[in-house]
Amino acid sequence: MAKRIQGKLALVTGGARGIGRSIALSFLAEGAKVAVNFNRSDRDAAELKKEFPDIGLFQADVSDFTSVKSMADIIHDTMGEIDILVNNAGIMYLCGWENYDEMMVNRMFSINQLGPINTVRAFLSDLKKTRGNVINITSNAGIGTSADNTTFYAISKAGVIMLTKRLAFDLRGFGIRVNAVAPGWINTEMTTGGKTQDQINDTIKWFRERTILGMTGKTEDIAKAVLFLASEDSSYMTGQVMVIDGGRTDNLTHGI
Ligand code: NAD
Repeated sequence: MAKRIQGKLALVTGGARGIGRSIALSFLAEGAKVAVNFNRSDRDAAELKKEFPDIGLFQADVSDFTSVKSMADIIHDTMGEIDILVNNAGIMYLCGWENYDEMMVNRMFSINQLGPINTVRAFLSDLKKTRGNVINITSNAGIGTSADNTTFYAISKAGVIMLTKRLAFDLRGFGIRVNAVAPGWINTEMTTGGKTQDQINDTIKWFRERTILGMTGKTEDIAKAVLFLASEDSSYMTGQVMVIDGGRTDNLTHGI
């Protein structure tokens, strides 16, 4: 059977672990040439490369345009023009009004919001040539949930939703499609790092109780949606947000 993105060149930012890693592997399995960006995840990146030597690894801090532009030039010279850009790199700091931390809030905004702006800017000439495809990883937090201490993260991800819609509009003349995926709670380093097993179990219970399907998600659930958006299966979609969260009932637009 024909592979779904055969021969396409895809870049996944923050792709050395977690959701990004699953996206990169699903692209590889569907025939793409895959470039993975990482910033500080050197060890995860080295393990990925050891297991999947065909993957190209590129270090850059997505919040820094100069760093992203140098990476874009290297990818261009060594692998070619990218067809698929997945803006997956992101961070989440839990902080609320009582423990507001300016550094944390700035960092979330500069990575989660400026990151996708920097990559689109740096790869724009490639994307125009390939009539490329951009997929932004936002969050159902960006639509509205009731998890405590996620207000600033939620705002940063809401910006990614508007960026997706505006980019789809702004780039309409170039045949570039832009869509987003909004995951619910997925077990990764971001959500479980630094927690004890009991704390993780409590967290999973909290989310299961607020999810129609009664379960939390896996990184592969998100990768499947991203693959759909990256392929011709979604050729009539742009400016859209696919929510993959098992049906969260605490979504603010539905009530608690
Ligand atoms: P993760 O922490 O495992 O992966 C995020 C990756 O981004 C890491 O490899 C990290 O090193 C990288 N990164 C961070 N800052 C970077 C920078 N400045 N430049 C380049 N790379 C950088 O977390 P994850 O759960 O796999 O998250 C992936 C994406 O999914 C994020 O955008 C996150 O906000 C989003 N998301 C996750 C969940 C969840 O429940 N896990 C839910 C909704 C949305």
